[in-house]
Amino acid sequence: MSAPASSPFKPLPIRKRTGTAAFHLSKKAVDFGQEDLAKLSEKQAVLLLAELTWGSTTEMPCAHCGTVDTHYFSVKELRWKCKCCGKRFSVTSGTVLADHKLSLKKILCMAFTWANGASGLPALQLRREWNVAYGTAFTLVQKLREGLVRGFNVGLLAGVHEMDGMDINGRRYREKRGKPLGGKSGPTPKIPSFLLKPKPGEEPHGPPTPPKWGKASKQPVDRRLVLAMVQRGQSLGLGAVSTRIGIAKTESGATVTTMAMRHASAESAFMTDEDPSYASFGTLFAKHDTINHSESYSRPGGISNNLAESLNARMRRGAEGVYLNQSNKYTHDYSCEQAWRQDTRKLSTGKKLRHLLRVALSVGLSKWWRGYYQGVHRDHEMLLEGNAPAKGRGRPEGWKPKPPR
Ligand SMILES: [Zn+2]
Repeated sequence: MSAPASSPFKPLPIRKRTGTAAFHLSKKAVDFGQEDLAKLSEKQAVLLLAELTWGSTTEMPCAHCGTVDTHYFSVKELRWKCKCCGKRFSVTSGTVLADHKLSLKKILCMAFTWANGASGLPALQLRREWNVAYGTAFTLVQKLREGLVRGFNVGLLAGVHEMDGMDINGRRYREKRGKPLGGKSGPTPKIPSFLLKPKPGEEPHGPPTPPKWGKASKQPVDRRLVLAMVQRGQSLGLGAVSTRIGIAKTESGATVTTMAMRHASAESAFMTDEDPSYASFGTLFAKHDTINHSESYSRPGGISNNLAESLNARMRRGAEGVYLNQSNKYTHDYSCEQAWRQDTRKLSTGKKLRHLLRVALSVGLSKWWRGYYQGVHRDHEMLLEGNAPAKGRGRPEGWKPKPPR
């Protein structure tokens, strides 16, 4: 609507879209759709996966003896027969998708839908769209996540990294430390006695008892911290290029150092907020700059950790809009998924699906989801402090998962 002629205000010009927003609306963002998948025959689906896992549809390693050769392909069985040991193997043998019951084409369709969700896709929605049992949809996406945990959230990066921690899970996790929201529960805080003037005849108060110090003591036990390390692109405007994730109970010197040493080379430069836990970064890495968020969000010279904050926002969107009440046990898996979504945000739909499958099929058999229906569950949550035993949700007291196969 244009402004009346007499109005002193001119309508603002429509802002030109830049960066990721411009990419999503561009032609090159979508090069592949559900319709293209529907056209694939089961054989073409098998050959597509073969191309992704082995880089070839004719030459591949045998899943049993490892011999690389042009093994015999049976069009009827859609499997190969090894020229060396004579055993048969399929494209999913020895991968997280081994022993799949659904057709490969359906798995590809479901993975494609899942990969395209901006902040993830609920397993319940997958179940509704593809008419499968909830457990089928849930284990499928968890196997894809496992691929991302073991195949994507690994390795050492060199460059400029931004690092930040974000509270997640636990009762009222959105509260800032020491600043409760609402304040309706619990008694109104009283003025501490040592601040009050002594009453007549009363002994003067001694020095105040020091308050219980340390973040751990102020946090609910089931609150967790998502530590994100985000590598900046080399050229201007690239934004985040590689993201690594770790879950911790507290943002302490020990946990942030473990995280940084695990994923950053010594010649890296770091940008963090002014949290004292990052104090040792100046000596551990080539450079360490800090930004004080109470003063500004960036300093001259490109000093900011806004890319890491952006990952936090993405994670929060997933936790509050898709996962809904995620368990601590799988928070690491969910975070790795968000890191992957962040890093592949500028890949076209076809490339994204290929990237997901290539990573997920590269890690070998599923360690945590094989035999899920038979009660074989991962029994720990993955923390930077070391794996910790995790409770099974909705299970009777004393229930214990069976050991992995
Ligand atoms: Zn063989």
